[in-house]
Parts: sequence; structure tokens; C-alpha cells
Amino acid sequence: MKYLSTRGHADRKRFCEILLEGLAPDGGLYLPESYPRVDESTLAKWRSLSYADLAFEILSLYIDDIPADDLRAICRKTYTEEVFGTKAIVPLKKLEDGFYLEALSNGPTLAFKDMAMQLLGNLFEYELGRRGEELNILGATSGDTGSAAEYAMRGKQGVRVFMTSPHGRMSPFQQAQMFSLQDANIHNLAVKGVFDDCQDIVKAVSNDLDFKRKYKIGTVNSINWARLMAQVVYYFAGYFQATSGRVQATQEKVSFTVPSGNFGNVCAGHVARMMGLPIERLVVATNENDVLDEFFRTGVYRVRGSADTHETSSPSMDISKASNFERFIFDLLGRDGAKIKALFGEQLNQTGQFDLSRDPAYAQARSRYGFVSGKSVHANRLATIRDTWERFGVMIDTHTADGVKVAREQLQAGVPMIVLETALPIKFAATIVEALGREPERPAKFIGIEDLPKRVTVVEADVRVVKDYIASHCR
Ligand SMILES: *Cc1c(COP(=O)(O)O)cnc(C)c1O
Repeated sequence: MKYLSTRGHADRKRFCEILLEGLAPDGGLYLPESYPRVDESTLAKWRSLSYADLAFEILSLYIDDIPADDLRAICRKTYTEEVFGTKAIVPLKKLEDGFYLEALSNGPTLAFKDMAMQLLGNLFEYELGRRGEELNILGATSGDTGSAAEYAMRGKQGVRVFMTSPHGRMSPFQQAQMFSLQDANIHNLAVKGVFDDCQDIVKAVSNDLDFKRKYKIGTVNSINWARLMAQVVYYFAGYFQATSGRVQATQEKVSFTVPSGNFGNVCAGHVARMMGLPIERLVVATNENDVLDEFFRTGVYRVRGSADTHETSSPSMDISKASNFERFIFDLLGRDGAKIKALFGEQLNQTGQFDLSRDPAYAQARSRYGFVSGKSVHANRLATIRDTWERFGVMIDTHTADGVKVAREQLQAGVPMIVLETALPIKFAATIVEALGREPERPAKFIGIEDLPKRVTVVEADVRVVKDYIASHCR
């Protein structure tokens, strides 16, 4: 399998080359040249596999430059009961007939980003070891991504993490999660500023090509194809669980609802559907930051400025543009790299929007690719958390609540609906208290983490200070 860029760059690359790269040289995102198709007999065979072995079967369709035995070992080392808390890894919880939650948030940081990041950590260690190279991951986080990256990379050979976060602005739980890590290869930099300052610093360092090369700076952001590919696996696992025991199970379709921000999670659903997994609808659920809902309703993709980006109670979906969206539009527009370059490389930069409402392809987003969408706001989250607790005795987090709210609007008779649960309520305790008047349950391993010693360096919002810190901590 070779990979191409959504913006038409001529090079074709293999998996391990793009693993450690961010964007393609032309600014596009990498995608496989084609989606491998899975037929019914293969689906039937995969149904009985463990999650780790299912991951291996799917990944091996996309990776031909890691020997099969090594790849299987990497998958088995990643998806264990020890790391993800259950043997099923992504157990399905039935709320009522035909309506399920798929638990993706039982990993080390209690959010679905662990599903991909844990694999990425093991792939990085493997590939860097094979090359005899090192990598310094520089990132900016307001919570979930940074902690998932740190828990995935802690103690890994050849990798260091330098994670910037806005000083004093993450929740006490999030700070405790990240800053309590004592591993020598994990560096927390609390920047005196806001999240945008952190992002600006990361951008400035990445744009300094000499520095970047000299200190082997890399990233783990959500546009990395390996992360997306890892997420494809749980669509299959969710499908198998929702249809288990049915006679004609292989022909039965299911729908998924996905709490969305950067379009990474639901894009993995799109890939699973393209591979032949019988998915009826892919429901994109947004919060007040409704860039994606607007597109699927109107055909207009309109990026928001920071003044129009709301801070909400489902903060991991607070985005102004969806960084993985280009991948879907590439498929929607018939994989025309020149068109994507004009839309995302030029038009979006100049005008901040594009309009596909009159393009015949737009109608296919729904008819051919199954996409529909909906939006949920703070009051909906509170009501949904309360309703789910009162009727089913199940406590859901704010992001999952956005999903459940929108999923109910898109139910179809006879089609099971699976809502992806993307975080546990303990991460967003304040809103749970607001909705239910009680604190969320805390998994045993997180009791008292706020009291652990913290390992963090407070720095000025200054690129030079961050560069100096990196330079003096590489070796
Ligand atoms: C990152 C995240 C999302 C959004 O996922 P995307 O892949 O960016 O669409 C939703 N919920 C939670 C809890 C997250 O951490």
C-alpha cells in the first residue's frame, strides 16, 4: 500500500515514511491510494477475533513495510486488558433496544484518544529503534491530546515529549494527570498565556527548519494517518458486538454517531465504510462550534475566527476548523488533488470559506457516503446527561452527551445506532455536578492523583525560552 497527498503531490510513500511525518510536502494530508475492500466472508472470520488481532488484520492491509510478526506483536502489546481495563477493549453498553454506547474511554487518560495514541507510541518506538533515530515531540494541549500523548510515549526509547499547556487553565484533574508523570522523557511546560500562545510557539518552532532538523522535532497531531487508521478498528469491533448472534448478521447495517471536533474520529468511520463495513449512517455531532454541522446541512464550509470559537462544556470539540475534513472532501470530490489544492490551499486561506452547495458532489455526502449531522448546546448536554442517568442509571460525559442528543434525532427503524463514548464523566466533573447535583465516580487508579508530586516547568510565552529548554534537555 502506498500513500498519496490530498493536494496532488507526485510522490507516493510507504507507511513507515509517513508515520513520522506530519503534512505532505505540498501541505496536504496523506491517504492510502485506495481503500482495501473487505468481503462478507472476511467479516465473518474477523468477528471472533480478539481486539488486538482484529487490529492486526486491519492494519496489515495498510502497512506493508513492517513484518507481519512484528506488527502482530505491536498490536498485542498495545491492546491489552491491563491498559484498557476490559478484555473487550471497547465494550458495547446497551441503553435500550437498538441504541448503544461504545466505550472508547477506558484507556490510561480516560478519553478515546488513547485508542490511537497507545498504538502510535509503540509504532514510534519500533520504527525509531529500527532506524537508530530519535524524535522530540513538541505539542500544545488544552487537555486531552497532550495527556494521551504523554501516557503513550512515557518511557519509550528514542522519544521525548515536550508538551506546552496554558499555565493554570486546565482542570485540576487534567493537570494532575499530566504533571504527575515522573518519566524522564516527559517534559511539561506550563506557558504563562492561553492555549493560542502555546500553539503559536509550536508553530514558530516548527517553522524554524534548522532548529527542527537539528533537534529532530516532530508532532503527534490528529492529522497523522496512523492515528486515523487505528481508529478504524473500533468501528469494526462495535459493528460485530451490535450484530452478534443475528442470523443474517453480515447483511445487517448499523449507524454510528460521533462527537466531532477535528473530524478525525468520524473520518475513521468513513474509511471503515469505504472498506465495506455495512454502515448505514455516519452522524456527525457538534457542539456550539458547528462548523461541520453547517457544512453537512448547507454545503458551505466556513472556518471560524478565534472570536467566534466558543468555550463550551464539551471543550475537546471546540474547534474553529476541522483539520481532518480535507480527507473526506478529497474523496467526495473524486480524489481531485488540484481541486483540493484550490479549495484548501488557496480559497480557504483567502476567504475563510468555500461553498459546495451547487456542486453535484455535495448531495452525495449523504446519499453515497451516509453523512448526516446535528448540533447540541450546553442545555442539551445537561438534559441528556440527566435523562441518561435517570432512565438507564448510566453516567455519560459532556462529549458523549452531545452524541446521544444528536443520535436520537437520526434514529431509523431497524437500524441499530452506536454512539461513540469519547470520554469518562470524571474528566468534566463540574458539568456533571451541574446536571446531576453529584460528583462523578472516579476509577480507583485516579483516586488522590491531585495530591501526587508534580513535574512541570512554568515558562514565559516566549519562543526563545521554549527552544532553549528543548535544546538543553535533548541529551
Ligand atoms: C478529541 C475529542 C473529540 C473530537 O474528536 P475529533 O477526532 O477531533 O473529531 C471528542 N470528544 C473527546 C472527549 C475528545 O477528546
